[in-house]
Amino acid sequence: MSIFIDPDAVSSLHRYKMPRKLGFGRVLAPVMFRAVCQDGCWSIGELVPYTAISLDPAAKVLHYAQSCFEGMKAYRTPDDGVALFRPEKNAARMAYSAKRLCMSPVPEPLFLDGVRTIASYCANLVPGNSGESLYLRPFLMGTQADLTVSTSASYAFYVIASPSEAYHSGNMRLWVERDDTRAVVGGTGDAKVGGNYAASLLSTGRLRERGYDQSLWLNPANRSSVDELSGMNFFAVIGDALYTPALNGSILQGITRDSLIELARDQGHQVVEGEIHINELLKQVDSGVCPEAFACGTAAIISPISVIGDAGSSYRLSKAPGPVAQSLRQALLDIQEGRTEDRYGWMQPLEAIRSS
Ligand SMILES: *Cc1c(COP(=O)(O)O)cnc(C)c1O
Repeated sequence: MSIFIDPDAVSSLHRYKMPRKLGFGRVLAPVMFRAVCQDGCWSIGELVPYTAISLDPAAKVLHYAQSCFEGMKAYRTPDDGVALFRPEKNAARMAYSAKRLCMSPVPEPLFLDGVRTIASYCANLVPGNSGESLYLRPFLMGTQADLTVSTSASYAFYVIASPSEAYHSGNMRLWVERDDTRAVVGGTGDAKVGGNYAASLLSTGRLRERGYDQSLWLNPANRSSVDELSGMNFFAVIGDALYTPALNGSILQGITRDSLIELARDQGHQVVEGEIHINELLKQVDSGVCPEAFACGTAAIISPISVIGDAGSSYRLSKAPGPVAQSLRQALLDIQEGRTEDRYGWMQPLEAIRSS
């Protein structure tokens, strides 16, 4: 597919001065990729200067939440190149999320053109210290302008980029959310949609007042087994095995989760995908049978969990960060940053287009 590169986008990259302090997801690259779809037909993709989007106030996304997104990273490689990690997985997941919301999915070639084009042209903006990256945010929304409750005939797909430092969550304190649910089986729990995040914010606000960092969401159907965090999947070392909840319809299919399962098995760990009953887990933490637990996702890779709070009690993990979390984190980062051979074929090197 052909791509239009707006000369103004190239000159905005030439002029761009990267701030010294980046943070995570706060600084935005001066260009964006976009394509639009009308009645199932996609336009060509364009790399244009970063600018505000003009939307009709009746656009369906604003009222009926037809929108989904992805989160991925471009990494600096040792030869000063740029590489993406398993981008087809993000393309497939975004197509899945789009179909769940009855939206026109972005064709895989267009999705890959989008992330590759912005990462290649922003090669100078990919920071080079370990843990840093160019965070990419593809998103899709229904733009048809009328108030009828029906699927949109027009869509807009964008990719924006954020040069980012390592996302340091430190050791996290989780709170078992016994009252609210963020997503339901049969709903959008396994789709990456903004509505799931909106539904999680009230719980997060409440637990922050109590000195915790993140909600640990339970399965909405049984209210007794662990699902995941608001934006990260959950793992626990229990006895001799590594446990993670099975993909049950209310859990997002994390690409980090999937990669860690494969790495852990190759490191000789037994990995069990199954139900983790929360009351059982808390007892195992208390008795030391579960010495470590961690959350994972693209942004933070692995975040160790130090405490799980529930009702009046708090349960302290004896190892945070624990040895399993540390060795998996290092193994994944070594592949992503090109320090070890990529035996899995996960990395995709790109042509780095230098703007100066
Ligand atoms: C994005 C996301 C994750 C992590 O997925 P990765 O592909 O590993 O980044 C986990 N849970 C939820 C709810 C998410 O939205």
